[in-house]
Amino acid sequence: MVAVLPWAPAQDPAADPAADPAAHPAELPEGDAAKARRPGAPGVRVVDVPDDAVLLPGLVDSHVHVNDPGRSEWEGFATALRAAAAGGVTTIVDMPLNSLPPTISPDALAVKVAAVGRPLVDVGFWGGAVPESLGHLRALRDAGVLGVKAFTSPSGVPEFPHLDEAEVDALMAECGQLDLLAVVHAEDPAHLAGDGALGVAYEPFLRSRPPRAEASAIARVLAAAERHGARVHVLHLSDAASLPLVRAARERGVRVTVETCPHYLSFDAAQIPDGATEFKCCPPIRDAANRDALWAAVASGEIDAVVSDHSPSTPDLKRRGGGDFGLAWGGISSLQVAFAATWTAARARGIDLATVVARCASGPARIAGLPDVGAIEVGARAHLVELAPEETWRVDAARLQHRNAVSAYHGAQLAGVVRRTWVAGEVVYDAGAPDPFSGARPGRLRGVAVTSV
Ligand SMILES: [Zn+2]
Repeated sequence: MVAVLPWAPAQDPAADPAADPAAHPAELPEGDAAKARRPGAPGVRVVDVPDDAVLLPGLVDSHVHVNDPGRSEWEGFATALRAAAAGGVTTIVDMPLNSLPPTISPDALAVKVAAVGRPLVDVGFWGGAVPESLGHLRALRDAGVLGVKAFTSPSGVPEFPHLDEAEVDALMAECGQLDLLAVVHAEDPAHLAGDGALGVAYEPFLRSRPPRAEASAIARVLAAAERHGARVHVLHLSDAASLPLVRAARERGVRVTVETCPHYLSFDAAQIPDGATEFKCCPPIRDAANRDALWAAVASGEIDAVVSDHSPSTPDLKRRGGGDFGLAWGGISSLQVAFAATWTAARARGIDLATVVARCASGPARIAGLPDVGAIEVGARAHLVELAPEETWRVDAARLQHRNAVSAYHGAQLAGVVRRTWVAGEVVYDAGAPDPFSGARPGRLRGVAVTSV
């Protein structure tokens, strides 16, 4: 296969790439421009993709906790964006919590933007809907967030309180009025066991967050969205038995999308060893039958997106209590491995690569409202990935790019090797180069007024 990419001349790294669009062909060409850029035409570089590889659109991960600023010892933009590029992810959308301040106001968003600097890949932001920011979401929207995130149960950090039922209703009323997307962590605290030690076995933790906690919260969130005509997105669905609620709401005309995560599609509860808190996340990884049902919905498209929910912490927090599932930090670091893990499991089930790419690229792009990424098409951002789909590799947590060497996938044999990643027509990652990261910073901030810092 041969790919023709617009030639991006070497640039002064201090120069603003947005300043001279002709020197920085960030979009796939169309019409006459495409003809003018045929192989052999001046200014055209031809890139060969070998027969054992395919060219994919850059992946979109709309659920990433970068934790920067404020908890950058958990994860930072420099390390997270390298993990993204190495995993074929060319656009991330950052979650509003676990960084300090949480992204709940335009001022906090400005602090976040300053922390990003010039990005390796494109970065967008979710804002935070907490009791304090309700009533002020217009300002957040106007500042450039792609939507707002709320929790229906405690978030895990004190500075990002959850919304009670009346506040969820108020959120949907405000979002409906603003036509602002609400993305929701849906677990009902009435069905969750309180905090505290649960021991090193996985089963008590799993029982502490039962499927009905998800179903109850999802039903409530959908009802509020329906009352107010709001657009809503269900984050990290773990409980497949909640899908009929989503289906029924869609049939009633509710504008709802839903995502799940690679860990729910890769693992099942029976596999999780005692004390292996790298598998702790909320909602939890459930049984194998549930996983099969999630896969059926991924294959059919009922689940719109598969995204990482990359949520790192320091190793000591992840191992707090000596591997006690009640005390350890909940969150799985998987930005770099998310696509390969999903493709590996899909392939074993006979689900094709095009379906996986749709869930990992165009699906999340649509949810985040970014129509120019997630597909290879005329006018789209020239974000591309060379993937060897049948080549396998073994995950070594210490060699992943994210900050702390903890991974639920450590030791896993995965199919799908990302060889090169392009952002806006520029190579940002080349696995075969002595330094795989080219040093280019062609990413853009999405939604916010600042396009480079
Ligand atoms: Zn999350």
